[in-house]
Amino acid sequence: MNSVNRRATDKLISGDDLVEFAEEEDGDRPVGSEAAISPQSTPSEGWKIAIIDDEPDVHRATQLALQNFQFEGKSLLFFSAYSGEEGKHLITSIHPDTALVFLDVVMETHDAGLRMVQYIRNELKNQKIRIILRTGHPGEAPEESVILDYDINDYKLKVELTRQKLLTTAIAALRAYRDIITIEQQRIELNETLEQLKQSQQSLQEYMHTLEVMVADRTAALSEANQQLQRLATLDGLTLVANRHRFDEYWQEQWPILTQQQQPLALILMDVDYFKQYNDHYGHLAGDDCLKQLARCLETTIKRPTDLIARYGGEEFVIMLPHTTLAGAARLAQRILDAVYRLNIPHAQSAISDRITVSLGVACLVPQVDMAIATLITSADKMLYQAKAEGRNRYCVSQPIPPVSTQA
Ligand code: GH3
Ligand code: MG
Ligand code: MG
Repeated sequence: MNSVNRRATDKLISGDDLVEFAEEEDGDRPVGSEAAISPQSTPSEGWKIAIIDDEPDVHRATQLALQNFQFEGKSLLFFSAYSGEEGKHLITSIHPDTALVFLDVVMETHDAGLRMVQYIRNELKNQKIRIILRTGHPGEAPEESVILDYDINDYKLKVELTRQKLLTTAIAALRAYRDIITIEQQRIELNETLEQLKQSQQSLQEYMHTLEVMVADRTAALSEANQQLQRLATLDGLTLVANRHRFDEYWQEQWPILTQQQQPLALILMDVDYFKQYNDHYGHLAGDDCLKQLARCLETTIKRPTDLIARYGGEEFVIMLPHTTLAGAARLAQRILDAVYRLNIPHAQSAISDRITVSLGVACLVPQVDMAIATLITSADKMLYQAKAEGRNRYCVSQPIPPVSTQA
């Protein structure tokens, strides 16, 4: 021990208890602690201890008493301030990570230490730092009121502090500080984990949302494809009226209903006149176009939702008219003839007109349970043949089979 330290210790031991303090310093230091001395420690590797006291000797004596100890493998690093104001600067700007403060009460003012406590807790909002109040004037700051009114961690009279007591007090305070730091660290880690979980949850929700949107899109596309398929399955590709398959299907649906209701079912078969010549003269594409125009023409002429226009094959169309009498169907046939005439599609090779014309066979019956479905088609087909034979561009009407009484 050098002479400065000896003097400091001597001064501190002017109270009787502290004689022991000085003697321990010379000869009774714990072996384990001494073996772990690490004087070269950097601040980040050690526990920062601030001594704030206006008596220089207190600084020296405190450091002398504690400097060779380690706590949990780290040295104790000391910093000094000699007034409350200097202490504030030290804790605020230089060593905010101070673990422990040995704080005097009476310095530049009678309550400078107590103000310092308020400053640390209330203004710096530092709840971690351990504050040990050390006073030589208990009259200025009675323990009972101070421990209640100020957020300090321990209260000592300077005369109490033997070297051993100082060490015990410091280690207990550092242990508490370590626990606070550990909990704080765990809290930060938990918060980070929570934040990561929130982000994962959000990513998951976004992914789920994307997935839902994709599923909805795919479902809509599938539905559209199904409808498309349905249209393809039931429509004629060229003219976009119902195809033969759809006609057969509708026929099978309507027949039993009309049989049960004893309602008439009329049928018109329509065939283009001299269409071979048309194709030969104007070309197959023009023939296709002509068939399309005829289909649109039928659609604008036949309006009831229960009626069905279908392409029966080649240049032949069939119109199925549930709940329609022979007379009603005949009127429709005439309207079709007129509408086709008004279409005015030139046909230079027709033997009967300057434009496209059609022939129509009309038949009607009230379906009966024991009647063959083909009866009506056969009858309409005969009437079509007859219309052709009679000179085309006309309709022929079959005799009612059996006669129907319902009016169209
Ligand atoms: P008719 O007045 O006796 O009905 O004589 P037609 O020439 O109309 O009858 P025919 O049965 O001899 O010829 C029908 C023609 O219709 C022959 C065929 O090439 C044509 N045809 C059938 N389907 C299509 C088609 O989808 N497109 C085109 N462009 N022509 C078709
Ligand atoms: Mg034909
Ligand atoms: Mg024809």
